[in-house]
Amino acid sequence: MLAMVLDKPGQPLRLADIEVPEPGPGQIRVRVCACGVCRTDLHLVDGELPNPRLPVIPGHEIVGAIDKLGEGVTRFAVGERVGIPWLGWTCGECRYCTSGRENLCDTAKFHGYTLDGGYAQYAVADQRYCFPIPEGYADIQAAPLLCAGLIGYRSLKMAFPTLERAPTMGRGIIPRPIVGLYGFGASAHIVAQIAVHQGLEVYAFVKPGDAEAAEFARGLGAVWAGGSDEAPPVELDAAIIFAPVGGLVPAALRAVAKGGTVVCAGIHMSDIPSFPYSILWGERVVRSVANLMREDGDGLMRIAPRVPVKIHVQTYPLEAANEALADLREGRVVGAAVLVVE
Ligand SMILES: [Zn+2]
Ligand SMILES: [Zn+2]
Repeated sequence: MLAMVLDKPGQPLRLADIEVPEPGPGQIRVRVCACGVCRTDLHLVDGELPNPRLPVIPGHEIVGAIDKLGEGVTRFAVGERVGIPWLGWTCGECRYCTSGRENLCDTAKFHGYTLDGGYAQYAVADQRYCFPIPEGYADIQAAPLLCAGLIGYRSLKMAFPTLERAPTMGRGIIPRPIVGLYGFGASAHIVAQIAVHQGLEVYAFVKPGDAEAAEFARGLGAVWAGGSDEAPPVELDAAIIFAPVGGLVPAALRAVAKGGTVVCAGIHMSDIPSFPYSILWGERVVRSVANLMREDGDGLMRIAPRVPVKIHVQTYPLEAANEALADLREGRVVGAAVLVVE
């Protein structure tokens, strides 16, 4: 099969002709139809993530049709369309796995990082970590749900822990809660739609001067879109930072009201500059979101068609993965970049 392979961080991916992987016990094999290009892939290629498996096939927003079942697979059938996300395996025994926090498992394995991913014609995965894809989503639209959507959704739940219990919050006499999204790429464009659906007001912070991104955000329901160097006209109840820029942490803390949470959604961020305690005071919280739990995927796949979340994609052939990564690095992607695999 054809695959784009990372031999060593700092080098472009190499187009390789390699053996089609065989599914092991409990694994499925899919014929990959589409694979999203995530900022994490960029951090991997740039050598910003520790201890990748090398060589490795990147990609963890994989949509494909099952073409072979490993021994003991009962959850899925051949021909079924599934999504393969970042989380690929957990131990089930550590302090995190046994306390409902598998996303923090000490020895977890991840597709496109410590397991091969979806920048290829075929991929294998443990059936327990795969999701059925909702009807009505084309393969290329579904792919970004598997990480951009999932991590964004998990971040939104961390920003507003009562969101799921009170899905119509803000529609009564209580004012609509306000969320700020810093960095308006693949994740934010999905989260903005879910947040609006849940009754939140969305304020979008884009790269200063990026009028196209501001327009894109307003088109998806943001009531305000401005530069990340601007103070919003109102106090935010919570903020989610998608851009890998540590300087946004104090900026977001200054923008949130007392008791508000600033969620850092990325796997990597530049150093956070020091800031005065006064902007954390008032029970403000700074936290990260790491990986995903399978229940996040189930929740997102339920809510996405109800919104309905519309995914804006920029597509590339598999062989053009390096171009897709370059466009993402330079901020030339509107919405989500997706590789289409023939
Ligand atoms: Zn574990
Ligand atoms: Zn990702």
